[in-house]
Amino acid sequence: MDLPADLFLDDVVLVEGTGARGPTDVLLRGGRIAATGDLVPEPGVTVVTGGYVTPGLIDSHVHISMAPGAAWRPEDAPEALAARRAAHLRSYLACGVTSLLDPALLPDDARSLRALEAAGPSPNLFFLGPAISPTDGYVAVVIPTFPSASAPADLPPLFDTFTALDPVGVKITMETGSLYPIWPVHTPEMRAALVAESDRRGLPRYVHAMSEDMYEAGLDLKPHTFVHAPQSPLSDELLTRVAASGAYVSPTMAIAGTALYAWHPEVLEDPWLVARVPADELATARDPENQDRFMHAMLDTLAPIVPKFLQGLLIKVAGSEGAVQSRLDDTQAAVRQLHEAGVPLVVGSDSGNWPIILYMFHGPTTHLELELMVSAGLTPLEALAAATATPAKMLGREGEIGSLQVGAVADLLVLDADPSQSVGALKQPRLVVRAGHARTPEQWLATP
Ligand SMILES: [Zn+2]
Repeated sequence: MDLPADLFLDDVVLVEGTGARGPTDVLLRGGRIAATGDLVPEPGVTVVTGGYVTPGLIDSHVHISMAPGAAWRPEDAPEALAARRAAHLRSYLACGVTSLLDPALLPDDARSLRALEAAGPSPNLFFLGPAISPTDGYVAVVIPTFPSASAPADLPPLFDTFTALDPVGVKITMETGSLYPIWPVHTPEMRAALVAESDRRGLPRYVHAMSEDMYEAGLDLKPHTFVHAPQSPLSDELLTRVAASGAYVSPTMAIAGTALYAWHPEVLEDPWLVARVPADELATARDPENQDRFMHAMLDTLAPIVPKFLQGLLIKVAGSEGAVQSRLDDTQAAVRQLHEAGVPLVVGSDSGNWPIILYMFHGPTTHLELELMVSAGLTPLEALAAATATPAKMLGREGEIGSLQVGAVADLLVLDADPSQSVGALKQPRLVVRAGHARTPEQWLATP
């Protein structure tokens, strides 16, 4: 995109996770925040008056290389796939999300996404790479295109595949299975080798773990971040160890939160959502047959021992609205425990996720995760911090993104309502500014 014109924000209240200041003025110049305070606009500069200003949002867990429900549609041709990904990137901008972290993608997808980012419009894209599974373990066993490692000697060439792609860390999975243990995890020898190799390359470790056991084992990896929340109740011992480790946690409550849409199809008719989601993804999500296919595909993956003729019965029990709601409740209770123990939390929606999942739409799901942070017990300002300053620090970009300080990238939202009262205010920005380019959500959606 071209260099943005100067923009003068007149008489705005600046709201960050730490609190509010102002009314004050802000000058944006050259894609950065050039000055704040009591300023006088130069003649001819565009002036925006009044409202609340927050940093642009950061979603620390999206699978931008994947499309919701893709497994249930004909495969996209290369050009259609690029157009779909570009639409997803615009949807994030329309939703006020100006930075994304994709924790698990293949090198070829990372290269195509870098090209889309350079062509714009796009949020800042951050990647982890590679995503390392144990042989015959998660995630490689579910998505066979993902790499795995069984010996320390496997690691250097695997890390090399991402060297030119500027990763901000490496993803390591520790997962035995969601319903019962079915997958092997990295051995203690491999855990030590993973730590040594990633340290040698200066790559912090993001560890996939979804249970107290896997958190315990994952601590061997000296994690920078735990990806996904465990289920409550968490022992005091684990809470103490996780808090002492300094690790961030990206809870991804939206996995269970969006799964509830199956029993609330009216959500898929919400005009705000409809405007931000590609029409064919909505059509896939609305088809009840796809929900049934999804449930069977889940069981094929998570409970392969269950014969097909018993799947229907298991779906009635384990796949009921009540079961999903109680999983969400347990996850939110764990998030509350982690928050009270002082563990830094970041907003990570897991949008895109498995292509068999129907409802994890790019853009809107970030806002669901923010709402779930608040219903888990964070204040709106704490949830805002979890989507701005905290992930900026996690990504090593403190003061550069997720910040309203002078010198930061001009990624910010101009809002009409006060986000310290409700995170719902973040869903309806008057303007979303990305690197100094200011557009309404409708303009971001329409930008070709
Ligand atoms: Zn994920």
